[in-house]
Amino acid sequence: MTASEIRALFAVASRPEVVSLAGGMPTLDALPLGEVAEIVRRCAAEQASVALQYGSGQGDSLAREQIVDVMTTVGVTCDPDDVVVTTGSQHALDLLVRILVDPGDVVLVESPSYVGALGVLRSYEADIRHVETGPQGAEPAAVAAAVAQARSEGRRVKALYVVPHHQNPSGATTSAARRVELLEQCRRDGVLVIEDDPYALLGFDSEPLAAMRSLDPGGVVYLGSFSKTFAPGLRVGWAVAPPAIRAKLVLAAEASVLCPSMFSQRVVATYLAGSDWRAHVKVLRGTYRERRDALLGALEQQLPQAHATRPEGGFFTWVRLPEGVDAAAMLPRAVAARVAYVPGTAFHADGGGSDHVRLSFCFPTPERLVEGVRRLTAVVAAEQEL
Ligand code: PMP
Repeated sequence: MTASEIRALFAVASRPEVVSLAGGMPTLDALPLGEVAEIVRRCAAEQASVALQYGSGQGDSLAREQIVDVMTTVGVTCDPDDVVVTTGSQHALDLLVRILVDPGDVVLVESPSYVGALGVLRSYEADIRHVETGPQGAEPAAVAAAVAQARSEGRRVKALYVVPHHQNPSGATTSAARRVELLEQCRRDGVLVIEDDPYALLGFDSEPLAAMRSLDPGGVVYLGSFSKTFAPGLRVGWAVAPPAIRAKLVLAAEASVLCPSMFSQRVVATYLAGSDWRAHVKVLRGTYRERRDALLGALEQQLPQAHATRPEGGFFTWVRLPEGVDAAAMLPRAVAARVAYVPGTAFHADGGGSDHVRLSFCFPTPERLVEGVRRLTAVVAAEQEL
């Protein structure tokens, strides 16, 4: 594992004078903080013997029951026994790759793909291969070709990793038809699908599509998270997996952390059971819609030579910079001009993406987003004169 040069810049990028279009931090403005404080108090005062104690490696049963309810929002019917609670969905992904992948095994990913997943895959020495991905999602023919190619090299293909709702970083949603086609292709090829779905409920104007897991429970491991819809600081995520994989996930979780935080799980479970969390998610959708509109409006006005995707939900737009501008090379100069982004290279395992940036609109207010684009536009203009 190596630290990227981007990391050093992020220490600077988190200073208050910098407009960060880089991180994926959700807004906490809309959280009912009084209610959350009362839940925390009750978990400590009334549930201390459980909430402050070690618990099950698979996760607290109350939390798993609530997660079963959340899963119905993406059309998945499951049992608490199918669920493994983890320390954020990042940990679920880490455990999954740990049990699946031997060094050199191939894992297929979208192009571009989530930087945090690439980090996990690299740390277990997976052979990461991007498959061509269009506005509808990963191309099934490209999956078939990548599987055939890997097998002709004597390699095992362990999984296809996808983020089907409001992808990080592209913002694209895999269409309903494409989900079916991908599942059929993966079933034919005997490839497991890892469906990483933290943004499912954050569609601005639409309800989520049916999860791939709902269409093929035996062939899909679903990863969910409360980081985007509740609070990332609690670090509660989950996996819904076929029984054999679930059993291994629990063993890996026990080896890794003994059990996920009981206190966090009780806070989440109490919140879900007693609060109108669906209403809170609705407020978030409105907030993020407004921020997307502010960012895209500013880009259109100030930087029309760039091409930005128009996400229907989630946190990110994927922007192709004007011809000849290199996103990674420009980053130090952008940070000096007090604006930060993530260069597209972070989302490619193969060095691609230098002509793209990921801009996130989740955290800054609309006014700050407009200011961020103003600064970015000046940096891009200076870059073109170099
Ligand atoms: N998957 C994706 C696609 C994400 O964007 C993120 C958060 N950046 C995660 C997983 C990790 O989320 P968590 O906080 O639940 O670990």
